[in-house]
Amino acid sequence: MNTTVSFHCTACGKCCNSPPAMTVPELLHHEDLFVGALGVRCDPAGLSLATMALDFPSLEACPARLPDGLCGIHTNRKPAMCGTVPLDPHHADDRQHVVLFSRTTGAGYVGAECIVPGRREGLPVLVADGEVADPGYRTQLHGHRGALDRETQEWGGAVSALLRGQMAPPAAGDVVTLPLVPVLAVLAARSDAARRRCLRYVRRQRVLLDRKVDEGLARKHPRDKPVTKEFRAYAAAYERLEAALARGGVAATATAAEALRTETYLDAAEAA
Ligand code: SF4
Ligand code: SF4
Repeated sequence: MNTTVSFHCTACGKCCNSPPAMTVPELLHHEDLFVGALGVRCDPAGLSLATMALDFPSLEACPARLPDGLCGIHTNRKPAMCGTVPLDPHHADDRQHVVLFSRTTGAGYVGAECIVPGRREGLPVLVADGEVADPGYRTQLHGHRGALDRETQEWGGAVSALLRGQMAPPAAGDVVTLPLVPVLAVLAARSDAARRRCLRYVRRQRVLLDRKVDEGLARKHPRDKPVTKEFRAYAAAYERLEAALARGGVAATATAAEALRTETYLDAAEAA
């Protein structure tokens, strides 16, 4: 089987057809632009969690995509996941050629012709012989896997344990999206500074969600109705969380070392 794939991005913006997966610090950094969500799916090993941004499906665009197709936050903390595209950090390096072949027929790539099986003169080789050949992409991919491990360490395990008793596992292949409430509750309990940062995020998301709901109602697109309803539910959940966080109802329960680690993690949200 041919495992060599060449690739050249012309920044056409075709694949920016939906909001990306984002880490919590990235969602906090872009709290006025992206509606954050927690995606839950059921793997053979148990619940699998990942944070992401959501928007109306009828828009078929990431909220950061500019009219000319370029990324509006390219130099302002563009999500690390986007820096790995068209690779996928959730698959091993020696499976990336399979990821790339599947993308050539995916909605976001048809017509772009940026992914070419084999070698083609003038196009850089992205993967070959079971490895990521491009050093820049290799660094992005491996760096992002490290960031995803940090997500698991900071909140993944604790939120899994929390959800296990609170929700039925999604059916195989389904992804259930939830507001970030359990993630924020876990982080806010680490220290008072963490609680205040989560409170700011909740307040900013409520403003964004209200605006999004108004936009959805004004546009009246049938495909957007479930998301408008979902955004309303997020706004209500954040209203309750805001009240709990504001009165200190989420008490700090972490050790000093855990508190410092989480504050450093959340501080990364402020970095440009
Ligand atoms: S579709 Fe291909 S060429 Fe266009 S932005 Fe995405 S990766 Fe780049
Ligand atoms: S953040 Fe930028 S690169 Fe990522 S999907 Fe949105 S527009 Fe595309």
